[in-house]
Amino acid sequence: MTPLNILIIDDTRADHCMYVELLGGESGQYHFLHAYGGGEGLNLYRDHAVDCIVLDYNLPDMNGLDVLRRLGDLEKIVPVVMMTGEGNECIAVMAMKLGAQDYISKKAVTSSALTRTIQHTARRTELLKKMEQYRADLERSNHDLELFANIVAHDLKSPLRAITQHLALIESKVAGMLDEKSHRSLGFALDGAKRMSALIDALFTYARLGFAEPNLDTVDMQAVLDNVRGDLCVPIEETGARITHDTLPCVHGDGLLLSQLLQNLIANALKYCTSTPCVHVSALPDDGRWRISVRDNGIGIPPAQHKKIFAIFRRLHLQEEYPGIGLGLAVCERIVRRHGGAIWVESEAGKGATFYFTLPAATDAVQKRIVYG
Ligand code: ADP
Repeated sequence: MTPLNILIIDDTRADHCMYVELLGGESGQYHFLHAYGGGEGLNLYRDHAVDCIVLDYNLPDMNGLDVLRRLGDLEKIVPVVMMTGEGNECIAVMAMKLGAQDYISKKAVTSSALTRTIQHTARRTELLKKMEQYRADLERSNHDLELFANIVAHDLKSPLRAITQHLALIESKVAGMLDEKSHRSLGFALDGAKRMSALIDALFTYARLGFAEPNLDTVDMQAVLDNVRGDLCVPIEETGARITHDTLPCVHGDGLLLSQLLQNLIANALKYCTSTPCVHVSALPDDGRWRISVRDNGIGIPPAQHKKIFAIFRRLHLQEEYPGIGLGLAVCERIVRRHGGAIWVESEAGKGATFYFTLPAATDAVQKRIVYG
């Protein structure tokens, strides 16, 4: 095992000797660096790969807390064990706030306590640094991914927009001159371009859900439903659908994403129905969360397909039967997962479907303020 590099910053030579002795001397398990003032300690830390700093409070040029502050300027995570005198709990607390990993009372220090604390500090620092590295890597790759998705969406959409516009122009100019077959071909080309544009939009929305942080707040699901009803007013009017609901709760979530979730589920309930759609939204408390359901009287889903329909591009029908691109439920699944919840369906073919999802409840205080004014 490679020895741990221990930097002792203490103005008393006797204390240096004591720590070295308590740690078993220069036995090979540790390698010691010695500093007798804060400035000297900081220089040694800068120039060497130090696994743990044993830091005293009283130093000739600055105190231990000043050293911690300056270390914090050098690095986010520092491997410091603060040595405190008896009755110096407030110094220990301040040291921990300034980034020390642990503290130990000088008076009560024993060989095993010092060994344990140093090993714990070195290990904890190593893990925290790794975590910090992962977090930074993740942030960078999320940023790159967002940039990539934006570029792809933009670069695919602008030529597509040109195609759609020119096809529409041709159609308006030569519509009367074309034979039936050519006219139909032009219609197919236009429909295909529009469908591709919708597909890019949906894919972009789906991709964004994977990396964009949800904007969490207290969300009144009743208000969300009202908005969704407004957004879906055309298909609601066209189908003559009836949408009813029980009292809906406030949840902790991202309002825009939850609107999208409810909208996708209700739009499907209206679409996959052969009679006048009746949709009912209700909510039940479920172990500190809310379980919200959207029930319809549509064509239903065979049990063997219940899991599969949440996968991306999974459709159970031909485009001519029911138009769609197979992303609505995949988006719902991602939204619910980003809220730490689950989504599932209960249904049988021909007997309607009920989609359930769970969401975290809004905190009590906020809930009461919203419900009771
Ligand atoms: P899309 O509606 O674009 O096909 P979705 O991801 O929203 O995509 O749905 C996936 C499939 O699940 C649909 O093609 C349909 O077969 C089925 N489905 C979704 N919602 C319902 C519903 N309320 N009733 C019956 N089938 C549904």
